[in-house]
Amino acid sequence: ASSGLQLLKRTLGNRSTAARFFSSAPIRATLFPGDGIGPEIAESVKQIFKADDVPIEWEEHYVGTEIDPRTQSFLTWESLESVRKNQVGLKGPMATPIGKGHRSLNLTLRKELNLYANVRPCYSLPGYKTRYDNVNLITIRENTEGEYSGLEHQVVRGVVESLKIITRQASLRVAEYAFHYAKAHGRERVSAIHKANIMQKTDGLFLKCCREVAEKYPEIKYEEVVIDNCCMMLVKNPALFDVLVMPNLYGDIISDLCAGLVGGLGLTPSCNIGEGGIALAEAVHGSAPDIAGKNLANPTALLLSGVSMLRHLNLHDKADQIQNAILNTIAEGKYRTADLGGKAKTTEFTKAIIDHL
Ligand code: NAD
Repeated sequence: ASSGLQLLKRTLGNRSTAARFFSSAPIRATLFPGDGIGPEIAESVKQIFKADDVPIEWEEHYVGTEIDPRTQSFLTWESLESVRKNQVGLKGPMATPIGKGHRSLNLTLRKELNLYANVRPCYSLPGYKTRYDNVNLITIRENTEGEYSGLEHQVVRGVVESLKIITRQASLRVAEYAFHYAKAHGRERVSAIHKANIMQKTDGLFLKCCREVAEKYPEIKYEEVVIDNCCMMLVKNPALFDVLVMPNLYGDIISDLCAGLVGGLGLTPSCNIGEGGIALAEAVHGSAPDIAGKNLANPTALLLSGVSMLRHLNLHDKADQIQNAILNTIAEGKYRTADLGGKAKTTEFTKAIIDHL
């Protein structure tokens, strides 16, 4: 029996997932509604999951109003403990005031929970016309270092310095994740995106690590593409790409470009993967202050992030039901939010999805 359990644990990924497999009790997951449009789109996710009887019990945590000295940010220690305990969560967007000098909430989460890879699938939605109907790619963004190391200071008056950190350990870890992901999902090619012609040391090390990992996966094609050329190729013919792996800043930018290829930020989900099997799903977009509180936001990106969380928990039936209901609602075209050219409010779109379950 114990070797059977070992096998199951290996198959399902981690201990807590294996335990859930045997249990009919609801699964506890952390929910950060976040800032701006976050609470409105989180409400949409809660309503749709409830309507579909998804066996999830949300543990909700809000961004604090004062800096918690234990996290050195507005994120409370308890909220981080909640993700550590549950191992799984869904996160709404969190605003970062520009140049205000406190630690970014998103950076704090990534660092404290060691969320080392951010996986961002991007595909054309059936029935929603954009310039392309054949986009089907995954960007995998290194999530803990690069230009986002938070190491910035003034050298002398009028001169500032920002450090880009690339380590062998983090580069190997994200490259390994990308190749493993490609193999597990039947993908054919991994492209490493870089600017090693200029950033010879940092991006050079990143590429060296990708090459090392590529040798372990001879069945997956491997290529290296300079980031500026990658942007041009993506805009001309996105079908050239399959899985893309890249340092932090490039991933942030390229994934927004990819979102633009399929209809915008309202549509693209992501999942942050951490050491020890933590999965914290979130939309690619930010808090959209321009439309916050107006019932205009498109909840699709956060919903599809929730769907990826369900897949991580092996709740594939529920994931399929909700994903199909979202895609069918958008394809039908009667209820679309303003970013997709429609007139539906967030709440009307949510109700339409529930009617399609
Ligand atoms: P943004 O993604 O919030 O908005 C960019 C544009 O896309 C806006 O016009 C917005 O209205 C639109 N948009 C975004 N999401 C939408 C949705 N679901 N439905 C309809 N339209 C949508 O980017 P920004 O304005 O540069 O950033 C705002 C704040 O969000 C900043 O404080 C930034 O730091 C933060 N941010 C957070 C995250 C995160 O939590 N992961 C990611 C990006 C930005």
